[in-house]
Amino acid sequence: MIPINELVRGFHLYQDEYEAKALEVLRSGWYVLGKEVEAFEKEFAASLGEDCYCAGVDNGLDAILLGLEASGIQPGDEIILQANGYIATVLGVMQCGAVPVFVEPDEYYQLDAEQIEQAITDKTKAVLVTHLYGLATRMDRIQAVCKKHGLMLFEDCAQSHYAPFNGVNTGLFGDASFFSFYPTKNVGGFGDGGGVVSKNPDIIHKVKTLRNYGSDYRYHNIEIGYNARLDELQAGLLRVKVKHMPELLANRDHIAQRYLSEIQNPGVILPKIPEGCKHTWYQFIVRVEDQDGFREYMKEHDIATDIAWKTPPYLQPALAPMGFKRGDFPKTEKICDTIVNLPMMDYMSEEEISEVIKWVNAYEG
Ligand SMILES: *Cc1c(COP(=O)(O)O)cnc(C)c1O
Repeated sequence: MIPINELVRGFHLYQDEYEAKALEVLRSGWYVLGKEVEAFEKEFAASLGEDCYCAGVDNGLDAILLGLEASGIQPGDEIILQANGYIATVLGVMQCGAVPVFVEPDEYYQLDAEQIEQAITDKTKAVLVTHLYGLATRMDRIQAVCKKHGLMLFEDCAQSHYAPFNGVNTGLFGDASFFSFYPTKNVGGFGDGGGVVSKNPDIIHKVKTLRNYGSDYRYHNIEIGYNARLDELQAGLLRVKVKHMPELLANRDHIAQRYLSEIQNPGVILPKIPEGCKHTWYQFIVRVEDQDGFREYMKEHDIATDIAWKTPPYLQPALAPMGFKRGDFPKTEKICDTIVNLPMMDYMSEEEISEVIKWVNAYEG
């Protein structure tokens, strides 16, 4: 069976370095918020671009929650985001007391700038873009709408580390951006991890306070904070990962370029990339009319597939009190009913890639 992803492959690529770093941290005697976290924050921010800062936190969801709160989002504020986004983004918005307002995505599955204006009310405070699947949203259009209406702009970059738009990495376009380092993400650790990135040092300082009980210095608390700290072991391992990201992104791009050039089946729609963007292939998503049939067929040929994700957040039972129903966002539902992920990971052999291509091409949908 060719897996949809297999994390241990990524570990094996740099096993010696990961093991050496893990031992170093274990032997250091210092385990939560320390020099590894500080070094990771500096190195990650520098790897994204100039003049930005990072605060490491415990996971991507808390990056959203703490980042929004540190940026001044208040209970009752409305935040516009795409209907086909991920549930964690919505949870982050709701946990800080804000109200998610959904809009339909564009043909690249990203937030559609043209949908924003009609969703603006006098309570709207911000737009929260999620760059889905490893592709940047076309940020020039989004920034223009935000500027016109005086809205804050946030980015969920949990799927878009190092995905550029017009040469600038996602995470550097708005007031603050939120990263996850969950093991499956392109910058994945070996446990949970997250980060808030901003060009505004005040926001980063506030996140660092909030993540540690609202404490600005030891035993002194200025906020009703959280425990959302990043640990030294994760930070140390993530430093190793960040160093190797150019190779890891090249591996993914190689797999994707073979899929794009060799898959030729009119029943299988390949992803499109808008001008100014370079895909980083967190997920390789195709579209098929018969989602279940295609997946069953691939499984018969020993190839795992996935759907990321079948149920959009507004139709999840947890959001039932908001009163959404099927049919509210037809474009989103059409996407969710036809997307399928092909195998994509840190490393695949040429034979594996060829096997996937062969069976996709032989599919009669
Ligand atoms: C994974 C993910 C998150 C949540 O990150 P965790 O580290 O799992 O909390 C948030 N938003 C998006 C778009 C994600 O893909």
